[in-house]
Amino acid sequence: MTNIKQSLYDFTLKELSELVKPSFRAKQIYGWLYHQYAQSFEEMKNIPKNLKEELAEKYIVNPMKIVRKEESSDGTIKYLFELQDGKTVEAVWLKMKEDQFDEDGKLIQEAKYTICVSTQVGCKVGCAFCLTAKGGFTRDLTAGEIVAQVVNLKRDNEHKHNRKINIVYMGMGEPLDNLDNLAKAIEIFKEDDGLSISGKRQTVSTSGLSNKIDALGKMDLGVHIAISLHAVDDALRTELIPMNKAHNINSIIDAVKRFPIDTRKRVMFEYLVIKNKNDDLGSAKKLVKLLSGIKAKVNLIYFNPYPGSDYERPSYEDMHKFQEYLIKHGLLSTIRDSKGIDISAACGQLKEKTQEEMKQS
Ligand code: SAH
Ligand code: SF4
Repeated sequence: MTNIKQSLYDFTLKELSELVKPSFRAKQIYGWLYHQYAQSFEEMKNIPKNLKEELAEKYIVNPMKIVRKEESSDGTIKYLFELQDGKTVEAVWLKMKEDQFDEDGKLIQEAKYTICVSTQVGCKVGCAFCLTAKGGFTRDLTAGEIVAQVVNLKRDNEHKHNRKINIVYMGMGEPLDNLDNLAKAIEIFKEDDGLSISGKRQTVSTSGLSNKIDALGKMDLGVHIAISLHAVDDALRTELIPMNKAHNINSIIDAVKRFPIDTRKRVMFEYLVIKNKNDDLGSAKKLVKLLSGIKAKVNLIYFNPYPGSDYERPSYEDMHKFQEYLIKHGLLSTIRDSKGIDISAACGQLKEKTQEEMKQS
């Protein structure tokens, strides 16, 4: 077993300033971590050798390495990382908007990207449709391991530190089940001397732990939330997400109403559309009613089948009829385009593929 060390990405600037004296050195180290994307202590040229040696005894810079990378024709890149204990997690680089040029071919706006990060190795929630759930729960990610996913992806894509990026906590794991480390990662991302990613550029997706939605709200971090609703009645929702028994639909809706939301923004509800389960217009009607008191936006997602999955992908027609119904009844709705569908897009699928291939070789 290798010697597992805490990562420097695990520290807020204030914490690092307490650790490293004189404290201006902490700011310099922050620059190396978040502006230069340094991978090792050796690279930190203006930091005294003895300080680097002292730090290297206890800490590591980058706590993970890229072990697999799959690129899709639409610009989506899926990464598999190996952590210090050999466990693996995924993160995804998503191209949301292409470069924009004027008539003379001059670049007027650079492409926009979003990074999807994992918060746990595996997941305890155990959703019936989710591949991550199949492997059970292994452990929480540390704040440093959450932060490092973003730094590694920006570095690998040569995305400068001051270019804007959005973060969605929609990879493997249930972010609110790892609330302390999640909150710390959010704070570290927000650091002015670091990546300076504001709360409003960060979206926490949750399967609906209503008490934790309240807890996150009280922290007042300025982040958005996305609720993985997926069903409009409790019986089906409990089949899909077993913990709906303890946190039913009403309790989630109530928690959302209490959440501090930027008044210009909408709360996103994710609705995984599954053939013959929740793709009928009766469900669409109930959804409109359920969300009537909330400034909401619904993101419809095609169920993405995998070998051995119990559910099927809905038809294009049913998906669009569902969306039309919502829009006609005043509910803003988008269909998540199939980004990276050719590279096993849904969470957990790249990891699973790698494990299968390892078994075969
Ligand atoms: N645990 C959190 C965030 C991670 S799951 C949550 O559940 O919200 C990230 C997203 O992947 C969720 O919206 C989930 O519904 C979706 N997902 C999981 N399995 C999927 C599949 N087979 N096809 C399509 N989307 C899937
Ligand atoms: Fe966990 Fe989200 Fe997958 Fe459900 S959908 S098992 S909450 S990662």
